Amino acid sequence: MGFKEDMVVKAIQENGEGDTEAILETLLTYKAIEKAPSDHENSPNDCSLSSDRENTDEDLCDMDDFEDEEFAEDLSEKDRKLLILVEMGFPTDKASSAIDRCGPNASLLELADSIHAAQMAEESDCHLRESRISDSTEEGTYVYDSQRGRKRRSPEETNYKRKRLLSDSESMICLPKPMVGFGLPNQRMTLANRKIPEAATGPPYFYYENVALAPKGAWETISRFLYDIEPEFVDSKYFCAAARKRGYVHNLPIHNRFLLHPTPPKTIQEAFPVTKKWWPSWDYRRQFNCLQTCVASAKLTERIRTELEKCGDPPPERIQKYVLEECRRWNLVWVGRHKVAPLEPDEIEMLLGFPRDHTRGGGISRMNRYKSLGNSFQVDTVAYHLSVLKDMFPNGITVLSLFSGIGGAEVALHQLGIHMKTVVSVEISDVNRNILKSWWEQTNQTGELIDLSDVQELNGDKLEQMINTFGGFDLVIGGSPCNNLSGSNRYSRDGLEGKHSSLFYDYFRILDLVKCIMGKNF
Ligand code: SAH
Repeated sequence: MGFKEDMVVKAIQENGEGDTEAILETLLTYKAIEKAPSDHENSPNDCSLSSDRENTDEDLCDMDDFEDEEFAEDLSEKDRKLLILVEMGFPTDKASSAIDRCGPNASLLELADSIHAAQMAEESDCHLRESRISDSTEEGTYVYDSQRGRKRRSPEETNYKRKRLLSDSESMICLPKPMVGFGLPNQRMTLANRKIPEAATGPPYFYYENVALAPKGAWETISRFLYDIEPEFVDSKYFCAAARKRGYVHNLPIHNRFLLHPTPPKTIQEAFPVTKKWWPSWDYRRQFNCLQTCVASAKLTERIRTELEKCGDPPPERIQKYVLEECRRWNLVWVGRHKVAPLEPDEIEMLLGFPRDHTRGGGISRMNRYKSLGNSFQVDTVAYHLSVLKDMFPNGITVLSLFSGIGGAEVALHQLGIHMKTVVSVEISDVNRNILKSWWEQTNQTGELIDLSDVQELNGDKLEQMINTFGGFDLVIGGSPCNNLSGSNRYSRDGLEGKHSSLFYDYFRILDLVKCIMGKNF
């Protein structure tokens, strides 16, 4: 791409030789800075502080579920990235849509990926619809048969699904405000009577999770596949000191839920009392934004310190604005005079309801800890929903845990005091599997943990074998990857058909197989 040699050397020095993606990202950033210096100068937010985006530390990680819409309006950043993408050969309209879709903070690699994904989604969309429709005709691809590992739908059901798949103009699911689900503890239920379609009633009970702010149509599809059950959208800020807007589709009862005790602190000040001393009056945050898979760089915190040291107390409004924006963007905390810092992994563990050191040690890098935690369940929120299982299964439950990650579901069940007789956990990351395995050992679980790797390899035969051995699953739980769903613009394409997010269909496939096998044998 014609990068200058000194730039290449500098980029390698910054990132190390091994990480070619980060090097490329740095080079592209250098190039953009060189070409469009006036962007920052003219930025309405300009505080004579250059943007920290040139620091590639943070671009190494996924900004995959950055939720605060307030940051979607960063025009100068958008223009800068648009320029580079066009230079890289992407059509302007596609590049622009990708930025809208992923948000101005997305790295160039993510944006390039997103453009490719959207193109592929467009191409495969027709194909997918056609193949889903033909899958559900007489050939019966969803037919479960113990010999062939398939499941058959009745013709009426087939037609119904076909109709549902074809009707794109159906009403959109609206995200509730406030995002309190079917009701918060000690509050009146917003939905007193919900009807679960007969085909969806438990056992097995199921619980599916993903980011609430998904692109247009994603939740409609999720709900449609999961037996037309209305999603329950909840922001974990009502359960802990950090926002986490998630949608949950489940067939659990919603009455007589209870909270885990002790309940976690709900404000930053309660969660981190020692930081109070350093918290400036103009930083009015009471809660964190969504905890991400990555954290701010040391360079950014240094820049903030230097800028604050240069001015008096309180700093001028434009500096306050800049600092606050970065603090909110990166969930920074005050740890000294003029000193902000990213949350430590153990602090994030606490906010998300995991035991201290849950993700620590055993060869797990800091980066991996942030990444796994950033993708995990908020334990108190999920436990609140799962609490109804306690009375239903006094002797314990058998769980199929898909996309287990670091075991948010398992930790929630354990903390609720629900005995896990058997957990079949399916998680592709070795790092995450090890975290769950060592937690299982450390908590002296008396049940059995079986860990498998790829959901795509879990077929009808394997499921039937397990179901016969364990006497069926009581709960099928999981949140499939959100990589292609998150971003600030939920009204754009990509979404569920993206490379990672399409694993949702495996959740559905497996759940449907489990239901079918259990329906036949139990
Ligand atoms: N609920 C989990 C996190 C879910 S994030 C928790 O509490 O930690 C989605 C998870 O799916 C990630 O951990 C990712 O590694 C895993 N994953 C991605 N592709 C997968 C696949 N093909 N099979 C199994 N797991 C997969």
